[in-house]
Amino acid sequence: MTERIDGHTTLIGLMAYPIRHSMSPTMHNNAFAKLGLNYAYLAFDVTSDRLPKAIDAIRTLDMRGSNISMPNKQKVIPLLDKLDPAAKMVGAVNTIVNDNGILTGYTTDGIGFMKSLDDEDVNIRGQKMTLAGAGGAGTAIAIQAALDGVKDISIFNAKDQSWENAKRNVDIINEKTDCKATLHSIEDKEDFKNEIADSFIYCDSTGVGMKPLEDMTLVEDPSWFRPDMVVFDTVYAPRTTKLMKVAEQAGVKHVFNGLGMMLEQGAAAFKLWTGKEMPVEYIHDILF
Ligand code: NAD
Repeated sequence: MTERIDGHTTLIGLMAYPIRHSMSPTMHNNAFAKLGLNYAYLAFDVTSDRLPKAIDAIRTLDMRGSNISMPNKQKVIPLLDKLDPAAKMVGAVNTIVNDNGILTGYTTDGIGFMKSLDDEDVNIRGQKMTLAGAGGAGTAIAIQAALDGVKDISIFNAKDQSWENAKRNVDIINEKTDCKATLHSIEDKEDFKNEIADSFIYCDSTGVGMKPLEDMTLVEDPSWFRPDMVVFDTVYAPRTTKLMKVAEQAGVKHVFNGLGMMLEQGAAAFKLWTGKEMPVEYIHDILF
């Protein structure tokens, strides 16, 4: 690392709180080193009250940009100059690019989801998806999938604080894309089962299956799945979730955790900053 840093090194940040556990600095710095790019990526503890000054520092220090994570993904929007259309639809930003003082906000989680399926030669465009969850990840997935040509999305959510957001996602998809979206209560198990039966892909973006809900899954019965469908869990720790085990019991061929999505959302941000492809397989082997 010290061999790479010199007077010309350009800084890229990660602004969130808490954030010291993040794998992103290891991901990006190893990718810069591998490709011989003169950038450095650092994590900064940025609480929401310090966000305006931190964003201004991107301009002041001529940083190339930053990743943004919780609790700042929505709060950052009014501080930026421009928004990518997908970020506008999602209502959240996880990547900022600084072009000569003009800050543009992007969201790459949904891109990461779609790209991770492409990497596995799974094409969900033109197909129907049942999606559990409408929080940060679920929103990014639903909107990018709709923009990329998924035909039909049935969104299931609990009647909790994300319900209004789920309604908003359905409305915006129906209004702005060719995809048909519908909202369903996750309490209605018969409806949930029927929608999954009618889908090409079932995706869980709720985090059920990771700590502290490690032994839980929203779908417990393997007969809800078909071998020819796709089952995707956004969780990547543990690597095999309870949902994935149920899908495997059902003989589902394409069962994925969120690892590929995590790597590809980083790769999409990396490309926005550097114009280069991240060496994803190399980074995968370093991180896992
Ligand atoms: P969030 O808090 O914004 O949203 C959580 C969603 O899950 C909401 O829709 C909520 O209603 C639903 N939910 C929560 N508990 C539930 C339960 N017991 N039953 C039914 N629904 C429930 O969280 P988020 O940021 O969207 O993250 C969700 C998951 O996605 C986490 O596991 C996170 O690690 C994962 N994630 C993965 C990636 C990746 O790149 N692989 C990226 C972002 C998030």
